[in-house]
Formats: sequence, C-alpha cells, structure tokens
Amino acid sequence: MSIETTRSTTHGFDEHRLLSANGGTPPVLEIDQVTKIYPSEPPVTALRCVSFSVARGELVGIVGPSGSGKTTLLHLMGTLDRPTSGHVRITGFDIERLSDRELAALRATRIGFVFQQFFLAEHQSALDNVADGLLYAGIPQAERRARALDALALVGLDGRPHARPTQLSGGQRQRVAIARALVGSPAIVLADEPTGNLDQATGGAILGLLEKLHETGVTIVVITHDRDIAHHMDRRIEMLDGEIVYDSAPEIGKSTNPSPDDPFRHGERRR
Ligand code: ADP
Ligand code: MG
Repeated sequence: MSIETTRSTTHGFDEHRLLSANGGTPPVLEIDQVTKIYPSEPPVTALRCVSFSVARGELVGIVGPSGSGKTTLLHLMGTLDRPTSGHVRITGFDIERLSDRELAALRATRIGFVFQQFFLAEHQSALDNVADGLLYAGIPQAERRARALDALALVGLDGRPHARPTQLSGGQRQRVAIARALVGSPAIVLADEPTGNLDQATGGAILGLLEKLHETGVTIVVITHDRDIAHHMDRRIEMLDGEIVYDSAPEIGKSTNPSPDDPFRHGERRR
C-alpha cells in the first residue's frame, strides 16, 4: 500500500484531510442519489436515485421483495461495485475518488460482511477463519489469533476455536462468519439475508446476537426479504423496484447530508 503524504495512514488514505474537510465526524455510510444500471441487454435499472445515511451505532433493516435491488445496494454499500451515478461515502470517503487499491484497503479496514451462505473456508478452523479477517490489516499472526479468539467469545463460540465449519451447525457457522466480520472492528457490518439458510429458531438466535452487538455500539445494516426480521430493527427502510418507498427514520439521512460546497462532493479522483 502506498503512502501518499506524511499524514496518510498506513492504509493509504488521509484521515486528517477528511476530518478537516467535513468539520467533524461524518456518517458511517452515505448513499447519495445513487442509481445503478446493469449494462445487460436490455439494461436493468436496479436502483433509482436512492438516498439515505447510516449514523454510527445504528441498527438498520433494509427490506424488500426479491428483485427490489437489495443485493445491488449491499454491493454498493460494501464498495464491491460502483454506482452508475450518485455517491457512496464510507466514513466520509467518496468511493468514486478512491483508486481500486485504496478501496480495497478501505473495505478491509472499515466494512465487515456477513452473507447468507457464510463463505467460510471448510478446511480451516473457526479460529483461522476469523483470524483471516485481519489478513490485510498488517497484524502479526499471534495477535490475529488472539483477536480472533476475542471475536469468537463475542459470538459465544470461544469454546470451540479449533472446530472446522463442517463440524459446526448452521447457526454456529453463521456465528463464525459474524466473528470474522467483527474481528477488525469495522465501522459498519453489512449482513445480506444472514438468517436465510437457517431454521426459524436458529435465525432468531442470530438476530438476537446482532441486536446484542448493536447494544455494544456496532453499526449494522441487515438486508432481508423478511418483514418480521425488519420489524425487529430500530430503523426500517423498505425497497420496491429499485426505490426506497419507506424509511422509518429519514431525518437521519437528511441531517447528515453534506453541504453543497463539501470538497468531497465534486472533483476528480485522487489518483
Ligand atoms: P434483490 O437482492 O432485492 O433480489 P437484486 O439487487 O439482486 O435484488 O436485483 C435487482 C434487479 O437487478 C433485478 O431485476 C435483477 O434481475 C437485476 N440484476 C441483478 N444483478 C444483475 C446483473 N449482474 N446484470 C443484470 N441485471 C441484474
Ligand atoms: Mg438479494
């Protein structure tokens, strides 16, 4: 990772520049008039001018039927894809202005992912699966493992650090995946249908865990097609046909939008 100025962090983006530009701590996530068009034949408009912000410490449920654009939105929130137009900002960084390398660094250090399919390495222990969440943080292996054990304790699995995913139940596997998402202390955890592969009781326990983590200050966005799940959340955003049709706390988005003269809003990519 290159270091651009003496004030740059080892991750290659400049915290001081960010904080002075915005005059304070920005929201964890800002989706600002985002449109996503897939260039298929015919083209598909998966998101139309979607805007909302997530403040630090929020637990947000995004709910909508299949095809409404939830996974597309998750990919954009997670910087796994770029919008066709509009802006995505993570802790104030406009992803449009970051190179792919900087984006990878930002993703590795700021965002934790939890997926319906868990995506664990089957041949590795729970501990190593979680420790791998720190591979890009430049942390020595012994400390990665120590932190991984702490993260497993947070999800109630510290008793079985050496179990492989195949030796664990679905609910336990999802706990490992959640520990992996948490181990780097990300600014935000994004969960796409985290209970989709679990029976109702197990899924309920996983939701309880996410709520517990939220109470300890973790910022979490849960994407789901299940309205019952969304109703558990502090804040609920409903999507239909690529648009937000309901937001139970829209004022959070409005009050945190940057002013038009925000230097991060316009201008060129940094490299
Ligand atoms: P959800 O997760 O709510 O089911 P998606 O974000 O997966 O919704 O999909 C939104 C719309 O975009 C759907 O019409 C889907 O068919 C379309 N879509 C998703 N991914 C692609 C792609 N890679 N190319 C073309 N169309 C896509
Ligand atoms: Mg989906």
